[in-house]
Amino acid sequence: MKIKGIARDTLNFILEVSKFMAPQEFAGLLQEKNGIITEVLLLPGTESSNTNAVLKLYMMPNIKAVGSVHSHPSLNRSPSQADLRLFSKTGNYHIIVGRPYDTQSWTCYDRGGKVIELPVLDVEFEGYGDF
Ligand code: ZN
Repeated sequence: MKIKGIARDTLNFILEVSKFMAPQEFAGLLQEKNGIITEVLLLPGTESSNTNAVLKLYMMPNIKAVGSVHSHPSLNRSPSQADLRLFSKTGNYHIIVGRPYDTQSWTCYDRGGKVIELPVLDVEFEGYGDF
């Protein structure tokens, strides 16, 4: 599945949740519709703590997802070893959000941990724009 980008509303939601959860970590799975990431699946029972969010995600059974998202309650958005293990397991788009949780403070990585471009798209509601 070729991903065109992430919906702006979805990204804003991610940034808001990350900010709300800070200083605890937040994690979820990314799901797409028509090649655009529009959904964040917050995992039930995810214990938010600095060490647990990513590991809990890693333990999840196979849920269809194009990637993952989690926050780092710091300025460092580099993936940890645990992050890289998770990346290699689920999808090819992995967002790490860091402080101060604004539109610039996130990075997308591929499954190998390489920084990739993920366009932010203004998605129109279905039924509009097709005429
Ligand atoms: Zn991490």
